[in-house]
Amino acid sequence: MTVLIVEDERTLARELGLFLYQQGFACTVARTAREARVQLADTPFDFVLLDLGLPDGDGLTVLAEAKQQGLTAAFVILTARGAVKDRIGGLELGADDYLAKPFSLPELLARMHAITRRRFGLHKPLAAVGPFELDLQARRLLFGGQEVSLSVKEFDVLSYLVLHKNRVMTRLQLTEHIWGNLPESGFDSNYIDAHIKNLRKKLGQHADVDWLETVRGIGYRARL
Ligand code: CA
Repeated sequence: MTVLIVEDERTLARELGLFLYQQGFACTVARTAREARVQLADTPFDFVLLDLGLPDGDGLTVLAEAKQQGLTAAFVILTARGAVKDRIGGLELGADDYLAKPFSLPELLARMHAITRRRFGLHKPLAAVGPFELDLQARRLLFGGQEVSLSVKEFDVLSYLVLHKNRVMTRLQLTEHIWGNLPESGFDSNYIDAHIKNLRKKLGQHADVDWLETVRGIGYRARL
């Protein structure tokens, strides 16, 4: 999943980025409201961690604009301000959650997982994928209770397709989800095709993978 970290405190931004990277998220940092707007216009992020006190404006304005533009990213407000009115203001504008600084990184992660489950209507951390089970929190795929070994990117491709099951995801959408901003060299759909091929091979050792469909000329779909 992709995360935009909007935070002007460099130490905190770096700490968040490192932690989330280790948890398998692709992170981009914006240090000002202006940078945040540029990034949001450019990339469809899954999460935005939003500091309210930014050097060039209020984070709530960034949130309001993003909602007006119909962006689907989940917003988590991070702020030192204890004021109840900020919290209410953020939630009224459509933020998904709110964390007061200082907060613990595991707590942030737990909140992000809870948002993912809520958004995709999962009531348990495990999602059924045919005869497999996908554990989004522990980032594991299970078959008969045993872990099926997947690379970080293979897990990302599979979980994105499962969370958007029965919808066709283009190669570009999958690439942006996994790498965030497109690499300088541009977009190479072969990466995604290679990951899908590996997934079919690894999952196919255990069970049928007919549900992982290729939609010719467009992308892939998990028919579940
Ligand atoms: Ca700040």
